[in-house]
Amino acid sequence: MSLPEAVDVCVVGGGQSALALGYYLRRAERRRAERRPLSVVILDRRDRPGGAWLDAWPSLRLFSPAGYSSLPGRLMPSPTGGADPDAAHVVDYLSDYEVRYGLDVRRPVRVIDITEDHDDNDNGAPGHLVVHTDRGPVRARAVVNATGTWDRPLWPSVAGAAEFEGRQLHTHDYRGPAELSGARVLVVGGGNSGAQIAADLIGTAAAVHWVTRHPPRYLPDDVDGRVLFEVATRAVADRAAGRPAEGVGSLGDIVAVPSVRAARDRGDLVAEPMVATLTAQGARWPDGRTALLDAVIWATGFRPALSHLRGLDLRRSKGLPLTQAPPGSASAVRSADGRPLWFLGYGDWCGPASATLIGVGRPARDTAADVVRRLDAAR
Ligand code: FAD
Repeated sequence: MSLPEAVDVCVVGGGQSALALGYYLRRAERRRAERRPLSVVILDRRDRPGGAWLDAWPSLRLFSPAGYSSLPGRLMPSPTGGADPDAAHVVDYLSDYEVRYGLDVRRPVRVIDITEDHDDNDNGAPGHLVVHTDRGPVRARAVVNATGTWDRPLWPSVAGAAEFEGRQLHTHDYRGPAELSGARVLVVGGGNSGAQIAADLIGTAAAVHWVTRHPPRYLPDDVDGRVLFEVATRAVADRAAGRPAEGVGSLGDIVAVPSVRAARDRGDLVAEPMVATLTAQGARWPDGRTALLDAVIWATGFRPALSHLRGLDLRRSKGLPLTQAPPGSASAVRSADGRPLWFLGYGDWCGPASATLIGVGRPARDTAADVVRRLDAAR
């Protein structure tokens, strides 16, 4: 597969965020009919559509009904029988979406590095960026990063982890309870992944210890993605009005999806305090209690997968690239370094609820508008 030598917009990553952006760039295209068409390419390291959903475990269900898990322009159809959509349903939806909107996604293409193309920067305007991939370079006037977080699991440093002789895996590697049948498992993490994986293991693992640093904060049972999106909408309006904006994190950490709610209500899903240390054979709690373990699952979150930007030496704040909101936008973010570089889909820092199917539409719309505005101004 050959890549274009140069494009107007290069999108790194081909998951839901990139597709939502592609939809809005297509729409912007139609409104600019009198101008030279925009050339856009989406580069994804995977060999098929679906992004992180390709790696989800079989029992994982969306925390909102299909209609509230839709990307812009296309309602996600409800699964037959009205069940909550599973990851395979999301993958089918994303695959269909990409074809429906004729998005130019090149797979598998891994973006390795991004550098500045200094030879065209004589007038001081931000020049091209060069996107270096395992299939050759692509010069781009604008780059949008939509690489998600799944590829960058966060492994916390916990005493004794190096001595533990059992298996250790992260949410990223968890593929269902079968591989841990009859095992004694410690699940670490008080978020959605921790609760869903612990609930998933109960009944097949011999023992499940779900440990959290703080008592788990369940969202009210009647809250699902719809409410989260409403809270995010208020946060966007507050940000736009310059008021302090409370992200969805203010509501709680765990959406009580059916599997979690059932295990919790049966009294099977009970969080214990975080262990003091792991040991060669298991774990010890601060009160001296011990347990023998065969495996530890670190459901301890993720970080934005941005290692391909190392070469640009971006200014950072709290580990994240320093960004600024384009004028008039309350939910898109571009690099504060003046380079034609945008970020989409990583979480609240790049748009409230932007790391959800329903929430990424607004930041994608604003990002597309800002990219097109900048490109047209520089022509
Ligand atoms: P991704 O889906 O991760 O896609 C990014 C793509 O970029 C991937 O294909 C990746 O391989 C590729 N990529 C990365 N680096 C490179 C590179 N250097 N070069 C080329 N390609 C690259 N969201 C909801 O809306 N509803 C839910 O119910 C929900 N439940 C969740 C449950 C769990 C347990 C988890 C972990 C997440 C859940 N999410 C949910 C969040 C959702 O899965 C993610 O936010 C979403 O996948 C992010 O989409 P994305 O397109 O930004 O990133």
